[in-house]
Amino acid sequence: MTSIQLREVEIQHLGPGPFIHPENEQFWSSIREHYLRLQRCDRCQTLRFPVCSNCYNCLATDHTWEAIEPEGTVATVLSIERQTIPGTAGVWGQERVTRDEAWKEAIPYHVALVDMKCGLRLPGRLLCTCRLALKHGTQVQAVVIQTLSGNPINGFAHECVL
Ligand SMILES: [Zn+2]
Ligand SMILES: [Zn+2]
Repeated sequence: MTSIQLREVEIQHLGPGPFIHPENEQFWSSIREHYLRLQRCDRCQTLRFPVCSNCYNCLATDHTWEAIEPEGTVATVLSIERQTIPGTAGVWGQERVTRDEAWKEAIPYHVALVDMKCGLRLPGRLLCTCRLALKHGTQVQAVVIQTLSGNPINGFAHECVL
C-alpha cells in the first residue's frame, strides 16, 4: 500500500495558482500540506467533490475534511499538443490570441478526469511524457505541483515522471 501523502513533482506550473476563498481554503491548505482532503458530510457520510458549503445529498453544512488515497485511473484526457503561434492567421484571417509564454514550456499539456479509489472523479493537470497515461484506465497518482503564486495545485502523474 502506498502512502496517503502526496508526492511533489519537480515541474513547476506556469499557469495561474489556485483561487483561494474561505469555502475552499481547507482544500488548498491540505494540498500545501501534501494531502488530498475532501469533505465528508457529518450527517449522511457522503464524501463529496467539488468543494461546496452544503452536502449535495442531504444539504447539511457540517462536514469533516478527510484525506483520500492518491491512487486513481484515467477516465478521460484533454491534450493541448502545440502552442498557438503569435501573428499567425486564424481560420477567419484574424490574428490569434496567444498564451504562448505561459504554455510553451508545458506543451504537450494534458488535463485529465481521474477516477479515484474513493469513487469520486477528480479533475487536474496530468503529467506524462511517455503518453501511456493518455489512455483510459491507466493508473496515475495525485501529486502536488508548485505554481508561481506560491500556492501549489493538485495534479496527477504517471509513473514515467515519478
Ligand atoms: Zn449529507
Ligand atoms: Zn507516462
